[in-house]
Amino acid sequence: MAQDTTFSRIVRGEIPAEIVHQDDLVTAFRDIRPLAPTHVLVVPNEVIPTLADVSTDDEPLLGRMLRVAADLAAQEGIAQDGYRVAINCRDHGGQEVYHLHLHLLGGRPLGGMVGR
Ligand code: AMP
Repeated sequence: MAQDTTFSRIVRGEIPAEIVHQDDLVTAFRDIRPLAPTHVLVVPNEVIPTLADVSTDDEPLLGRMLRVAADLAAQEGIAQDGYRVAINCRDHGGQEVYHLHLHLLGGRPLGGMVGR
């Protein structure tokens, strides 16, 4: 299948994941190697490889991804103390899975953004 990814298989329920939200545009599930007490990935149901590949047509999708992240942060009980939302893009961004996703991280102080 063209542009099939691990994450699209999770979206379709073909491989297991702890899904915490799914709607017509996005799916959210817990990261398999969590970096913080809360580490959830929010992905588009349809594959877009990277943030560098989004178009104007994707603006509603990008808004939904952020809205769902904020709702999940509240649901996870981390909104008051705060959290981080991150998108890694391509090689220098450290992207491993070429299916656009945001990381919702929280539940402990996360420190600085990037090590010096
Ligand atoms: P990135 O480096 O931004 O591409 O992040 C990819 C993330 O996907 C990593 O944090 C991985 O731990 C996570 N990941 C990879 N495979 C799975 C999977 N099958 N289920 C849940 N998370 C995964």
